[in-house]
Amino acid sequence: MHDAAYSRASRFAALFIPPRCSLCLATTEPDQPLCTQCQQRARLTPPGAIQLNHSGLDAAFAAFDYAGTVSEMVKALKYRGAVALAGVMSEMASRRLPSDFLAPGAVLVPAPSHPASHRARGFNPAALFAKALANRHGLAFADQLARDGSRPPQAKLSRAERLTMPDDAVRMRYARLRPWRRNPLAEFPPNVVVCDDVTTTGVTLEVCAFAIRERYGLEDRPVQIKGLAFASARQTSPSHGG
Ligand SMILES: [Zn+2]
Repeated sequence: MHDAAYSRASRFAALFIPPRCSLCLATTEPDQPLCTQCQQRARLTPPGAIQLNHSGLDAAFAAFDYAGTVSEMVKALKYRGAVALAGVMSEMASRRLPSDFLAPGAVLVPAPSHPASHRARGFNPAALFAKALANRHGLAFADQLARDGSRPPQAKLSRAERLTMPDDAVRMRYARLRPWRRNPLAEFPPNVVVCDDVTTTGVTLEVCAFAIRERYGLEDRPVQIKGLAFASARQTSPSHGG
């Protein structure tokens, strides 16, 4: 929904149902996904993102460890449909990233949801996060990757199985399928950032980077591809992302 229309709709709804904080369910102001206390908790995080080392990515960061308020926010977004949190997450991540990470002209590409998860949820949390980041930084957003639905969702796989995600599990969707949509990846982009809500093994980010590189040719047209996750669950519960 358009932001202004969403804002009008949420104010109208607030006349009948008081808006609730996405984390603690306290009543909150219309247009504010978090109450004042939870906003303060979210802002308490010190600067400094977590650098990830993944082959096939020119740089990769997770803004946070998957723990505490951060994991509560991801769960509220993914499992309770608190989609307005994507804006808060993009603001939080922006404050943690190195200042040169999102270069001018970069195209933000969300890691695709598994088709079954997307059908069940009705949205891709990684796309909401990437879109909010793109809007915040005035960058292009291209939801142009698709995941192979014949393979189980990453969350249903063991760590060993996740690490063996085949390179063809993600592919580029072609712009001509949706010609009415502007597609920033149709032109060769010099700088792409693959975005996910949670990364565990990093293999999803790597496979997405592979799909993009393959589309443009691996050698003759070098494209810088970075990876960004809102949270890294490497050391904690491996029950999300890939
Ligand atoms: Zn709250």
